[in-house]
Amino acid sequence: MSKVAIAVSCHPDDDEFMMAGTLLRLKEAGYEIHYLNVANGSLGTAEHTYEDIVRIRREESIAAAKMAGAIYHESLCDDLEVFYNYETLGKLVEIMREVNPDIVLTHGPYDYMEDHVNTGRLAVSAAFCRGMRNYKCGQKFPPTLKEVAVYHSMPHSLTDSLRKPVVPEIYVDITPFMETKKAMLACHQSQKVWLDQSQGNDAYIKELVFRGKFYGQMSKKFDFAEGWIRHSDVGFGAENFNPLVDDLKDNAFMVANPEREAWSKLAQDIKDSIFE
Ligand SMILES: [Zn+2]
Repeated sequence: MSKVAIAVSCHPDDDEFMMAGTLLRLKEAGYEIHYLNVANGSLGTAEHTYEDIVRIRREESIAAAKMAGAIYHESLCDDLEVFYNYETLGKLVEIMREVNPDIVLTHGPYDYMEDHVNTGRLAVSAAFCRGMRNYKCGQKFPPTLKEVAVYHSMPHSLTDSLRKPVVPEIYVDITPFMETKKAMLACHQSQKVWLDQSQGNDAYIKELVFRGKFYGQMSKKFDFAEGWIRHSDVGFGAENFNPLVDDLKDNAFMVANPEREAWSKLAQDIKDSIFE
C-alpha cells in the first residue's frame, strides 16, 4: 500500500504558493496525494456574488488538484470563518481518519493572517485526534494510530505577523515542478483577474516564481525550493519519524541543529537511566 500525504491549506491557491511543489515531489516518490482548502474562497472577489465565487473557486481548485494528480476534498467553511471550533475540527478529523496520512502539510502558527494560522491549528489537532476513539465527531471512519508527521509551510509574508523572519529547517527541491506549480496556480483564474487588477499583470505567477527562488537561494543547494518546519513529534510518531526528508532522499534535506541535538541527547541519556 502506498504512503499518503495530505496538504491542508487555507484558501484556494495557498496550496499552489506554498505546498504544491512538495506535494508533487511526494507523488513522484510514490505517495498518494490529497488536496484540501479549508476555506472556500468566498471573499476573493470584487465582482461575483457569494454563490458564484464559491462555485467558481471550487471548480478552479478541482482543476488544480486534477493537474497535480491529487485527490480533491471539499472545503469546510467560508473565508474569514476559519475558526478553531468543534464543528470544523470534527469535519477535519473525519477527513484525517479517512485519508490516514503519513504526512500532513499545512500552515504554521506564525503566518500573516488568522485564517492561515487557524488552518494550521485545526490540521494539527485533527491529526492528533486521529486515534481517539471517544472523540465525538469523526465516527464514520475508524480511529487510527498510524504514525504521522506534520510539517508547517513558510508564511505567505515570508515573516511572521510581527515581521520576524521565519527560517525553514527543511528544504525540498521543487525545480522540476515549477511549470506544473505555475499551471496549477493558473487554474485559479478568478484570482488572476482579482490580483491583476490590484497588483499588475501576472502578479500572482511572478509571486510564485519569486517564492520558489527565494527559498531556493536560502537552501544554498537548489534552484527553486519550498521550506518547511516540522511540528513536535509528541502525540504523532517517533522522534526520528521524518518521512518528508527520508523519503525524498536527495531532493530534500534538514538543516543541522547542534543545539537541539545536544538537548535531545541529554534528555535521552537521562530517560535511559530512569526507564531502563
Ligand atoms: Zn490564503
